[in-house]
Amino acid sequence: MIVVGGGNSAGQAAVFLARQARCVHIVIRGADLGKSMSRYLVERLARLENVTVHPFTEIHALDRTDRLAGVTMRRLSGEQTHIAAHALFIFIGAMPDMQSLTDCVELDRAGFVVTGPALSTASLDTDAWRRLQRAPHFLETSIPGVFSVGDVRSGSVKRVAPAVGEGAMAVSFVHAHLGPLR
Ligand SMILES: Cc1cc2nc3c(=O)[nH]c(=O)nc-3n(C[C@H](O)[C@H](O)[C@H](O)COP(=O)(O)OP(=O)(O)OC[C@H]3O[C@@H](n4cnc5c(N)ncnc54)[C@H](O)[C@@H]3O)c2cc1C
Repeated sequence: MIVVGGGNSAGQAAVFLARQARCVHIVIRGADLGKSMSRYLVERLARLENVTVHPFTEIHALDRTDRLAGVTMRRLSGEQTHIAAHALFIFIGAMPDMQSLTDCVELDRAGFVVTGPALSTASLDTDAWRRLQRAPHFLETSIPGVFSVGDVRSGSVKRVAPAVGEGAMAVSFVHAHLGPLR
C-alpha cells in the first residue's frame, strides 16, 4: 500500500495500514517526516519494519487493469521506481468546499470563512453592522448573527478539541448577539 503525504494524517494512516498490509510505502517530497509529522508518529513508524519512507519522491504514474496495479514513483533526481500496489491513499491537505457561500460571507484566499477581528473593513461597511453599533464577535462571520466554527473557519486550529470548544463559545456569542435585540 502507498501513502502519499508527510503530515499527521498520513502518519496515522500508515500506522493503521501497517497492521494489515505486507508493506506500506510513504511517499514524501521533503527530506524526512520530522518536519511535518509529530515526533511520536515518526518514532512509531521507524519501529515498523514493513513501513518504508521514500523521501524527495513524487507519484509519477499509476498502472491499472480493472483496479490499481502499480505505482511509478519518481525521485527529484529523476530516478524512477515501480512498485506493485493495489491501494493508494493521498493525505496532502484539505480544501474547504465553500463555493455555495462565496457571495454570502467573506472567505479568505483559500476559501475558509473569515470571522471576528479578521473581517475586512469592506465587510463591516454595511447598514447591518452600522445598525448594531458593535464590533463582530470573535466567531461571527461578515453577516451579523451568523457564526462559523471548526475546520472551515479561517485561522482555526484544525483539530477536534478546538472545533468543539469553538462550538461551545459560539453559543455564548449567539446569546450576546440576540440579547440586545430583544
Ligand atoms: C484523516 C484525518 C485524521 C485526523 N486526525 C485527527 C486527530 O488525531 N486529532 C485531532 O484532534 N484532529 C484530527 N483530525 C482533524 C479533525 O478531524 C477536525 O479538525 C475536526 O473533525 C473538525 O471538526 P469540524 O466539526 O469543524 O468539521 P468536520 O468534522 O469535518 O464536520 C463537518 C460536518 O459538516 C458536514 N457538512 C459539510 N458541508 C455541509 C453542508 N453543506 N450541509 C450540511 N452539512 C455539511 C460534513 O459532512 C461533516 O459532517 C483529523 C482529520 C483527518 C481528515
